[in-house]
Amino acid sequence: MAESAIRENLKLVLERLEIACKKRSLDLQDVKPRLVAVSKIKPVESIIEAYNEGQRHFGENYVQELEEKAANKEILERCPDIRWHFIGHLQTNKISKVLAVRNLFMIETVDSQKLATNLNKNWPKFGALGSKLNIMVQVNTSGEDEKNGLPPSEVNSLVNYILTECPNLRFEGLMTIGMFGYDLSKGPNPDFLTLRKCKEDLCTELGLNKSEVQLSMGMSNDFEHAIELGSTNVRVGTTIFGERTKKH
Ligand SMILES: *Cc1c(COP(=O)(O)O)cnc(C)c1O
Repeated sequence: MAESAIRENLKLVLERLEIACKKRSLDLQDVKPRLVAVSKIKPVESIIEAYNEGQRHFGENYVQELEEKAANKEILERCPDIRWHFIGHLQTNKISKVLAVRNLFMIETVDSQKLATNLNKNWPKFGALGSKLNIMVQVNTSGEDEKNGLPPSEVNSLVNYILTECPNLRFEGLMTIGMFGYDLSKGPNPDFLTLRKCKEDLCTELGLNKSEVQLSMGMSNDFEHAIELGSTNVRVGTTIFGERTKKH
């Protein structure tokens, strides 16, 4: 995609994001949503272009691709303040690879006690002394078998485990991908409503402050809708970088 197109697209997405923020109910106004530019399968030049326009948070799904991009010489030189979000499924045997990523900002897809335990155990080998690794808990809100994430009923116990047993992790919020192709004319996206309900239940049960629990939901097709329902972290790829070709 031409550089100017990425610049224009990014500007438009940020404008749409601002407008969606103004449509939120008053109780949802406390956190300005963060835009994560999902750059999977897109070249390094596109990332640099978006970075030059001020974009800092980038999302990647594949461990090897994230490793390569984060270690890319040009990225390291020209994007020193880049913040990588890992948003794909993380297998236990790939943990060290992700933790070694320079400028790793967050892992959004923690969905089991085993994964949390392993991340907690290994982070001190990679992170700055005394630092914590930002993580979100991924919830399978649609109940589809092929989706990763844990069922809503198990969210509270996993978060409680992370808060009490994983001192090297910083619990930042809940994330969902949700069902693809939901028709918004049918009303609010049930996945987003479910994630929001998970947050409410979690805050009530564990006594957490609502403004301190983020919601990562909303992609190219529905990020404005997600923001209106309380999303604080939208993951937008196609609308910024153009259509993706299939990964081989
Ligand atoms: C690819 C991907 C996105 C971005 O999807 P677009 O529709 O291109 O905006 C967001 N979140 C996750 C987890 C993804 O895999």
